[in-house]
Amino acid sequence: MNDGNYIEDCLILTPKDALRMVKGLNIKKVGVNPPDVKCWIDDPKNPDLISISVNGNEPKEFELEWLDMTFGQVAFFNCACGNRIAKLYLLPHGIEFGCRHCHNLRYRLSNLNPKSAAGYKIHRFDRISKLIYKRIDIPRIFYKGKYTKRFNRFLAQCKAAGLDDMVENAKGMLEITKTQ
Ligand SMILES: [Zn+2]
Repeated sequence: MNDGNYIEDCLILTPKDALRMVKGLNIKKVGVNPPDVKCWIDDPKNPDLISISVNGNEPKEFELEWLDMTFGQVAFFNCACGNRIAKLYLLPHGIEFGCRHCHNLRYRLSNLNPKSAAGYKIHRFDRISKLIYKRIDIPRIFYKGKYTKRFNRFLAQCKAAGLDDMVENAKGMLEITKTQ
């Protein structure tokens, strides 16, 4: 019986990633042996239909749908199942991307009570690893001698996750730059 797969084990692809790859740019790879993912557009007249192939397997097509948000247009994938989604998932050793529902995905963390000792540790580890990825994505920490809004948000999240060291180090860093 297939009791589901875990989101934490999957490679995630966003419309932004897919569009970057269409342009020939690379996305951040995770894992020891990351799969070879290729994205392209078959018909230049239909630039919203993206073919995605994994390790040279037959490509699967996903249509992008652009929605107007207050801050501009945002792309979503239309999955074959009818769901409009912000992320596609690839299972470990999988050969095609799909949405959460198609792959029957759930969070490993949702099985654990975060209040139990083991659950708390795993929760904390997960939050920290997510924060580390976020930090990699912040291109600029300072702007005019102050932290950027993004970095401040990041620090607030660190504090909420109990990462006081990170916040203290950042304070120290700001002091150093002020004295220069
Ligand atoms: Zn689906």
